[in-house]
Amino acid sequence: MVHYRELGLVNTRELFRQAMAGGYALPAFNFNNLEQLQAIVTAAVDTRSPVILQVSKGARQYANQILLQYLAKGAVNMAQEMGCAIPIVLHLDHGDSFALARSCIETGFSSVMIDGSHLAYEDNVNLTKQVVMFAHGHDVTVEGELGVLAGIEDEVAAERSHYTRLEEVEDFVGRTGVGSLAISIGTSHGAYKFKVKAGEDVPPLRFDILEEVERRIPGFPIVLHGASSVPRNIVEEINRYGGKLEDTAGIPEEQLRRAAKSAVCKINIDSDGRLALTAAIRKVFAEHPEEFDPRKYLGPGRDALVELYKHKITHVLGSAGKVVLPG
Ligand SMILES: [Zn+2]
Repeated sequence: MVHYRELGLVNTRELFRQAMAGGYALPAFNFNNLEQLQAIVTAAVDTRSPVILQVSKGARQYANQILLQYLAKGAVNMAQEMGCAIPIVLHLDHGDSFALARSCIETGFSSVMIDGSHLAYEDNVNLTKQVVMFAHGHDVTVEGELGVLAGIEDEVAAERSHYTRLEEVEDFVGRTGVGSLAISIGTSHGAYKFKVKAGEDVPPLRFDILEEVERRIPGFPIVLHGASSVPRNIVEEINRYGGKLEDTAGIPEEQLRRAAKSAVCKINIDSDGRLALTAAIRKVFAEHPEEFDPRKYLGPGRDALVELYKHKITHVLGSAGKVVLPG
């Protein structure tokens, strides 16, 4: 058993309180490897933003759970060395079982999501409650989910999505004891969120549902998943250098900015990072086919990620400069 405090990590409770009061959202960026993690920490330190490092079940299998523990500890130390000990959360994204959530808590995660949103309502309540009871014994915060997002990402896929059912919100939060709630208001997982032709608009987020959730559970932290914007210029760059991505669009940043000012305290961005990294690597391969040193293509990929994350933190989430250092 390794407690997250031994790794220098924090849970989300106080960070969400500050985000709610300050009208911004915390960035939750997924990582699977060293370059992604370096980019996240660099961007967060440079912008003085607290940050949530997100790990999915698939990422945990990919990277090795022991190595992940030390990467997270390394992230904390790296931030200190860079001169700004930003608060860092290590969060399980889309936990699908009690065993997985427990294993993460016992290996240094400070926050876990238990996603029972695909289950029957009562089963979701019971699974979530079980995780919350265990997590609270270790002062770990828990994110639950109501409503099913469309799209596909890692092992999370939904054939049919549905918006969060408002009549379940108070009951779910009250009975499970979760610290935050992911809701479905029109965001979706993956890079293929909406098929649109150039010049067409994507369907707007359902701010009416978000407002009604806020009315029913005032001051309660809300989470948005699947909030990548799938920037057209990055998709075009990938295709210019030999990629084959179809016409696609994500959530306009305008709408995410509006959400970040509300009770939305955590916004998950994964696909945009995957796209930015891929575009940069493809460019190197296309322009320098003689390169074979991984640092020569992963390095530019990492630089592209730093820029993307700084942009999101500063211009979308509003969490830049929000680090409150003790003393
Ligand atoms: Zn998600």
